[in-house]
Amino acid sequence: MPKSKRSQSNASSATSTEPTTESSISTTPSFSSVYPYSSLFDKPQFRVLIVGAGIGGLMLGYCLEQAGIDFVVLERMNQLQVPKTTIQLTSNTLHAMEQMGLLDEIMEIAKPISCVNLRKHNMSVVGRLDCTFAKDRYGFYSYIVQRTEFCQILISKMRHDRILWGRYVHDIVNGDAGVQVRCANGHVEQASVLVGADGAHSAVRQNLYRSLKGKAYLPKSDMEALKFTQNAIIGLTNPLNPTQYPGVSDEFGECNIVIGKESPYTLWISPTSGDKVNWSVTGPMLTSSASDENFMVSQFGQEEAERTCLLIKDLKIPFGGTLADLIKNTSRECITKILVEEKFVSFSGQGAEQAIMDAICLTNLFHKLESPYTHSDIQLAFEAYQEERLPATKAAVQSSGQVANTINSQGWSADLKRRLAFNLPNWIQAASVDKTQARPLLNFLPPIRDRGARSVKSFKLSNDENGHRSTRSLSSVKS
Ligand SMILES: Cc1cc2nc3c(=O)[nH]c(=O)nc-3n(C[C@H](O)[C@H](O)[C@H](O)COP(=O)(O)OP(=O)(O)OC[C@H]3O[C@@H](n4cnc5c(N)ncnc54)[C@H](O)[C@@H]3O)c2cc1C
Repeated sequence: MPKSKRSQSNASSATSTEPTTESSISTTPSFSSVYPYSSLFDKPQFRVLIVGAGIGGLMLGYCLEQAGIDFVVLERMNQLQVPKTTIQLTSNTLHAMEQMGLLDEIMEIAKPISCVNLRKHNMSVVGRLDCTFAKDRYGFYSYIVQRTEFCQILISKMRHDRILWGRYVHDIVNGDAGVQVRCANGHVEQASVLVGADGAHSAVRQNLYRSLKGKAYLPKSDMEALKFTQNAIIGLTNPLNPTQYPGVSDEFGECNIVIGKESPYTLWISPTSGDKVNWSVTGPMLTSSASDENFMVSQFGQEEAERTCLLIKDLKIPFGGTLADLIKNTSRECITKILVEEKFVSFSGQGAEQAIMDAICLTNLFHKLESPYTHSDIQLAFEAYQEERLPATKAAVQSSGQVANTINSQGWSADLKRRLAFNLPNWIQAASVDKTQARPLLNFLPPIRDRGARSVKSFKLSNDENGHRSTRSLSSVKS
């Protein structure tokens, strides 16, 4: 392997290698043949390859740009998808958005949530969780934001050649000094590190698991296939008329969860900006192959989505009338049907925020790396990332599982549990949200004032002064 240091111009020519004729999928490190870089990384050589231009991938790209770290995002779609879903943003990520100068633009597309109502199929309210206390206590309300609009803001801030569309990554080769990927169209990219932000059916994760399994490093629990036994159908309406749909143009929106009576379907309704409503229904719907562990398609075709709409169109909605009214007000391309893991709730507001916090943590660690980098420095950074992020991620998965269990279970004890969970005294509710507060920031940007009456320090005394325990442990190991 050549030991010479690579210049910036070499870097760019090396990133758009001509397609090779090699077609086998490989995870075996035969690195020197594919990665002609030095095993020592200079700052200009350090390059991050991100697979997936979803919220996680774009956010990481944006953070790396702030840090002056070279990166490229490979996305299989040819362009950003039409708006279909929403995400929830809270104080945990909005402080960082403010620090990164994104807050004003986000606020233009965001709708604050006043409460979450749990309803029976006949629309009677079982319970209501107030969300307004978050502003004083944590600094921000919780907001619903259309996912595509959020992604668009991030894309608009990045150089256009940072995101390569139409690149389906399927072949990954690891080595001591970095990684090389090959896309279905033959495009090849290489970099110091690879970050898989390619969603639930991640090709990066599958490659990694195959490789770890080969070396007997893969934990047993990770060998099990995910159980995508449920479906969700999701739609984002056109702007609705507030006289027909009371509340849609109010400053604050109410989210509603409607439990089916002797019905396997749960309906979720979230108002969003532009007088639109994001609706979704979860449950076992039509698809026979959903439990097949080899079924790797996460989205179904239009026809399947339309057939599913016929199954659920008579569900009552909180505005009066039925879901058929909302379906009628939703463009066909804004409806999608997907597979979901039965034990989790896609809509519990955790996924996007966890992905954003992952991006912030990883960027802080990469920024701390000092030239010349060695392979073990990078390994150390990923270990610190795991140490910092794993507890929060585990807690998010656990709480999503609890929400799924509370909402999806049937019978009198489930009814009782739901009644209790959605009628908690405010102080108990606040105490449980306190535990989720993290509010990470980019360490290398000027800090911002924490807007919350209660700072993160008061919840997490074990963290260091910035709440970045692992970043400090990385630097102490290095020095
Ligand atoms: C139906 C649904 C509803 C949700 N609702 C909410 C919500 O209300 N609130 C909330 O906070 N979160 C919600 N989430 C979760 C949230 O959207 C995600 O967790 C969040 O977007 C972070 O995902 P990600 O960026 O890691 O992956 P994704 O958003 O899934 O993006 C992955 C990207 O990778 C691309 N890709 C996949 N494979 C490849 C490949 N081999 N090569 C190249 N590119 C590839 C995909 O095209 C996609 O663009 C929801 C998720 C779903 C599925």
